[in-house]
Amino acid sequence: MPRRRCQVRGVVQGVGFRPAVYRLALARGLTGFVWNHAEGVTLEAQGTEADLADFERALQEIPAPARVQSLVGEAIDEVPGEADFRIRESGQGEAPRPVVPPDLALCEACAAEVDTPGERRYRYPFTNCTRCGPRYTIIEGLPYDRPRTAMKAFPLCPDCEREYRDPLDRRFHAQPVACPACGPRLALQGADGILRAEGEAALAAAAEALRQGAVLALKGLGGYQLLVDATAAAAVGLLRSRKRREAKPFAVMFPDRASLLRDCEVSPEEAAWLASPEAPILLLRRRPGGAVVAEVAPGNPRLGAFLPNTPLHRLLLAAAGRPLVCTSGNLSDEPMAFEDDEARRRLGGLADLFLSHDRPITRPVDDSVLRVDADGPTLLRRARGFAPLAVTLGLEGLSSPCVLALGAHQKNTVALLKGGELVMSQHLGDLTSLEGSDLLARTVDDLLAFFGARPELLACDLHPDYASTRLAERLAAEWQVPLVRVQHHHAHGAACAAEHALTGPALALTWDGTGLGSDGTLWGGEALRLQGAAFTRLGHLKPFPLPGGAAAVKQPRRSACGLLWAVQGAGAPPPPLAAAFDGAEWEQLQTLLAGAFNSPLTSSLGRLFDAVAALTGLHARGGFEGQAAMALEFAAGERVEAPYAWDFRDGTADPAPLVAGVLADLAAGRDAGFIAARFHAALADLALAWAQQAGLPDVVLSGGCFQNALLTARVQQKLGGAGFRVHRHRAFPTNDGGISLGQAAVAVLTTVDR
Ligand code: ZN
Ligand code: ZN
Ligand code: FE
Repeated sequence: MPRRRCQVRGVVQGVGFRPAVYRLALARGLTGFVWNHAEGVTLEAQGTEADLADFERALQEIPAPARVQSLVGEAIDEVPGEADFRIRESGQGEAPRPVVPPDLALCEACAAEVDTPGERRYRYPFTNCTRCGPRYTIIEGLPYDRPRTAMKAFPLCPDCEREYRDPLDRRFHAQPVACPACGPRLALQGADGILRAEGEAALAAAAEALRQGAVLALKGLGGYQLLVDATAAAAVGLLRSRKRREAKPFAVMFPDRASLLRDCEVSPEEAAWLASPEAPILLLRRRPGGAVVAEVAPGNPRLGAFLPNTPLHRLLLAAAGRPLVCTSGNLSDEPMAFEDDEARRRLGGLADLFLSHDRPITRPVDDSVLRVDADGPTLLRRARGFAPLAVTLGLEGLSSPCVLALGAHQKNTVALLKGGELVMSQHLGDLTSLEGSDLLARTVDDLLAFFGARPELLACDLHPDYASTRLAERLAAEWQVPLVRVQHHHAHGAACAAEHALTGPALALTWDGTGLGSDGTLWGGEALRLQGAAFTRLGHLKPFPLPGGAAAVKQPRRSACGLLWAVQGAGAPPPPLAAAFDGAEWEQLQTLLAGAFNSPLTSSLGRLFDAVAALTGLHARGGFEGQAAMALEFAAGERVEAPYAWDFRDGTADPAPLVAGVLADLAAGRDAGFIAARFHAALADLALAWAQQAGLPDVVLSGGCFQNALLTARVQQKLGGAGFRVHRHRAFPTNDGGISLGQAAVAVLTTVDR
């Protein structure tokens, strides 16, 4: 009898792959075995040529969440007298390879069990199977087996043991398998730490408290979340004041599809994402007259919406009977709490009640955020469901060496490039707090241990004060490996180029908040020519001063003041900008500018957005970074108006004519939507001017400004219409969450150039 051995790589562990192989072999009467190990899955099968060929074809088609990336088969010697097909125990001790399964949303079969009276797991909040459940948030090491997960503390009961051992059961080798008899349990505590209720009673009491307007801290899949009634303005306001989060939109979890459809428009592609194993938060268009109050996402035509991704969420949302705000358990700018003691300490002042359980969370993993645009999806936050899936980069020469890139400072991620595959950490958030920089160091240790990696190159930002830069410097000294410092916007552009496997020269339009430039000024409105590991700054926005420096990021009126100073010198603020300044503030800023004191120059397009939003009176004070730009995007809507002009010389775009145009329109009493539409059209013109100057067929778009769907669409239309190939981020964030990818790509390219 012919016998073949196959090496299978991809997402093949923790997703029911081996049982699927077993069933396929059984159906064809094959003998042999399948074996899980650190490199993936190996199997040997013996039978007729026809059956073996059919078997290998079927292996490639094993459905999601499994994903076969490569299957290499070879003929080997027959094993006489083999009687059956078996699943062997996992091997140990080999060098692990980046094949760690991400967490998977509750599957339909498990949801049906949880909903069906009489089932063993009826209303059990920790139900899972090989197709769904926690993975990355419970794994301690590879290969993925129960003794190396947070579930090791829960010995299986005889019923679960039987399912776990039965190759024909849906829970065969489902590592987190559990039931009410043997698995984790719910407990409800007050902020005082006193136990209020357990099990079903805890769930009911938590739901009732939510209906009464309480803030609930919920121990979710990858960390603590804060929940309130999304249909009650008072409850949302309470959460905003406690979390010190004034206006930033909250995500909302809906009990089911039907309730979500009452609040949001959902395309077929968006519906597929909502029901996918990744189950990200989707930025959906709101319907008028929905149940969710405006305070959840003030002034925003979109709502971050998602469906319950664990049985616990499903049961809680059903019991509450309404959509709930579901946001990370943290104070603004801190990472999410995920350990019980830490959560109690950090969230004690934020939540009224804690709905918790005794399954430990191994590492914090936030919810992912995705938006579907006319031309496809773009991932804005890469976390649950995606991290830490290894992605094969299509760039040549990336097979070595091993690179660790530490990212930037906000919305940070870390990336590990090994053997041509890139593993990006889950979204880690801002590194400003002590907790943030601790999480960074912990994630690095975690990834290196997990993937058995010994980096030969390190990469970081140019900025000397980022916690990521300081850690990179320390590690480079400790490991005696070279450190590549990558300019912030170079990394942005390189990330998008790497995502699309662009190897030749390309133009990168990196439009962003601010990042330290190679000349010591703050960049962010750049046209960079990328070539190998190098870049040339072809063009940029003409720099203008930011009075008060970093304070301008959260005070758009300061950007407006600096821009007017650069364009027309000293003077009084025009209305409606004048209304945004109290007392002597305008004069004080003018004094700073006149003395060139604490007024760094910037070419940031994000700050130009701020300035224009402040000039129009749309948004001038306080808030979160990007809020002013969002106000302009939403004000423009779908309006198409004539663009403002630029003074464009040798790649430098002077916005003086644009500012004059805005002021003239304001004086003529034109509304903010008209001005916003003209501004977006002007930016599309700017993109085209730079693309024509560069004369390269490929243009990559990256940087925080391209979170703006309108800007992205306008630039794509303009460049596409002129025959350029435009590439935008898809699987990696266009904001600073994508920086680590770009740093890793640049670092490895430095070794190719030599
Ligand atoms: Zn399931
Ligand atoms: Zn059990
Ligand atoms: Fe950036």
